[in-house]
Amino acid sequence: MTWPTRSSDSAIPLSVPELGGRAWEYLKECLDTNWVSSAGPFVERFERMVASVVGTRHAVATASGTAALHTVLLVAGVQPDDEVLVSAVSFIAPANAVRYVGAWPVFIDADPATWQMDPQRVDELLTQRCRRRGGALVNRASGRRVRAILPVHILGHPCDMAPLVELARRHDLVVIEDATESLGAAYRGRRVGTLGDAACFSFNGNKIVTTGGGGMVVTDNPRWAERVRYLTTQAKDDPVESIHREVGYNYRLTNLQAALGCAQMEQLEDHIAAKRRIARTYAEAFAGVPGISVMPEAPWASSIFWLYTILVEEAGYGMSSRVLRDALGRSGIEARPLWQPLHRSPAHRGSEVVGGAMAKRLVASALSLPSSVGLREADQRRVIDQILQAAAHLEVA
Ligand SMILES: *Cc1c(COP(=O)(O)O)cnc(C)c1O
Repeated sequence: MTWPTRSSDSAIPLSVPELGGRAWEYLKECLDTNWVSSAGPFVERFERMVASVVGTRHAVATASGTAALHTVLLVAGVQPDDEVLVSAVSFIAPANAVRYVGAWPVFIDADPATWQMDPQRVDELLTQRCRRRGGALVNRASGRRVRAILPVHILGHPCDMAPLVELARRHDLVVIEDATESLGAAYRGRRVGTLGDAACFSFNGNKIVTTGGGGMVVTDNPRWAERVRYLTTQAKDDPVESIHREVGYNYRLTNLQAALGCAQMEQLEDHIAAKRRIARTYAEAFAGVPGISVMPEAPWASSIFWLYTILVEEAGYGMSSRVLRDALGRSGIEARPLWQPLHRSPAHRGSEVVGGAMAKRLVASALSLPSSVGLREADQRRVIDQILQAAAHLEVA
């Protein structure tokens, strides 16, 4: 999704990495010392930096955010044919990870106020559509055991975690946060990643901190952290002899990637400040424009506004979000709709959904706008003017 170039005069990409700071220095250090692979000092340093910024006791780096999700589902004891509640409005990775372990996603619609997993829908599923059988909570429709909730903090904003965690505790479910889009965001003063039993981050090229590709599992649970480390390093039981009691994975991050990650982590607070400044400028520009809704930030949330996203409704704006996107594209401005609701994805055909109206509204009207940390003021002004003019032009015509 990211463009390979930085912002130029003509093109304004959706989101490109900001690779400043000590990246060169740290990468050179890897080359000079011959530590390029998954052993090496930067991996541990990167893990410590993320744990410290997030506020968890443990962090284990992985090859990607998807690998982090896969591993943590294994470690959390999600079994084949279990069910996991996943946000319906999300990038597809968490739903895929649920399938990797042989379990099934049940999709939960978004809350209209926050666009995040709606706790009321979760309550509806757990209390009205499930029953207890033995020690397990069973979905009446499928007959499968519900094992975990996987809320995705989409676009930089946290889910309303207190009611989700309360429901999970009441029904004896595990909570795994997909915090891949929201490193640094906070819920009631606590950073995402500390709100469930474990959480996953991603350092893909378009995320707020990038290692090119990479991920991390964070948790306060020492046994889980150790097991994540074990499974991501081929489940190696002996440092010398090749003994493996389990089927493991090659899911480790390399020292080269972690070196970039360390340089990026040193810039995280600056990156967040830039994202928030970009968000404020968009919000002020679009306030009161008919047919445009600005991105929410709940009173209990501190969003990092990873991708600034507006809702464009044809009835008020005069043009659909897709037509606006094409118009922006013609002037070199990259904008993008949100994800197809996951229960509508052919890859997850036949999956259950609770609600779905908000997911439908979001996919029809949401448009993510250029949000790079390095987005220049003049470029953002151009994006804003284009969007305001596109509507004004219609009124005249
Ligand atoms: C980016 C992302 C991931 C994982 O991404 P990787 O590319 O595997 O690092 C997972 N979930 C969501 C919601 C994401 O946006």
